[in-house]
Amino acid sequence: MDSVFSDGVKDMHYLQRREQTRIIAFNCLTPCDDHCFCEAAHSLDFEAGADIFITPLFIHTEAEHQYLVELFTIDGEQLTHTLIADPCDNPIELKKQAKSLRPEPFGRQFITSLEQLSETIHSQDANDIYEHYAQRCFSCGTCNLVCPTCYCFETQDDFSLDGNSGEKTRHWDACMNPGFAQVASGHNFRAESAARQRHRVRRKFAYLSQRFSEDSFCTGCGRCGRQCTTGIDIFDIVNDVCQSINTVHQEQAQPEAEK
Ligand code: SF4
Ligand code: SF4
Repeated sequence: MDSVFSDGVKDMHYLQRREQTRIIAFNCLTPCDDHCFCEAAHSLDFEAGADIFITPLFIHTEAEHQYLVELFTIDGEQLTHTLIADPCDNPIELKKQAKSLRPEPFGRQFITSLEQLSETIHSQDANDIYEHYAQRCFSCGTCNLVCPTCYCFETQDDFSLDGNSGEKTRHWDACMNPGFAQVASGHNFRAESAARQRHRVRRKFAYLSQRFSEDSFCTGCGRCGRQCTTGIDIFDIVNDVCQSINTVHQEQAQPEAEK
């Protein structure tokens, strides 16, 4: 979000709040639940931006709670100056030992690498797959609202009746809402639910990651799939798109006589 809100015209509202924000990151040893795919999305062990980075040293039991607390910034040090803790001589080794307790694979994994997946998602229309999921989508926008990397908004002008005063306000918007891509003339660039779904997937795995040089703009948190009333999960959509492309490639590679 720092990249997004610093891009082009800087968003001072965001940046001022960000300036006042300190981040305490937690390094999980077990996936949150069956929806998580953070390792596949390259956000497991993600340290960038953290002031304090906490790694549990055991998979917790009632009896054992021990953590490695790494302080990456002066703010992190100030926040913890009253903490009573043992100094640590070998944080790298401790962290390595802690990570060795993780299950493998860690959460769900895509059927192709993230790099390959990004190219596939960008280059393939895969309309039948998006339409398949769109059939049970309410276009409620919940998947956008719960997503930590959805940031789209719209502005609204409200004037007093005498025209002497007014307010311009900003509201969160959601690309899964039917009116998201409707413009002043009334034309809607993405009137179909399947087109909106495809746009959302491409934003997360192709458009924004390429624009901001990130591996992915999806953290793999699994929130959208967890919250969707009809169980639509971006992880499944992405895997289905990749699978359909693999199938096409296999068919093309098949010798003519076998077909
Ligand atoms: S939460 Fe589910 S039903 Fe609602 S817009 Fe997203 S995919 Fe569609
Ligand atoms: S899993 Fe869903 S909610 Fe989480 S970052 Fe990816 S798109 Fe957003």
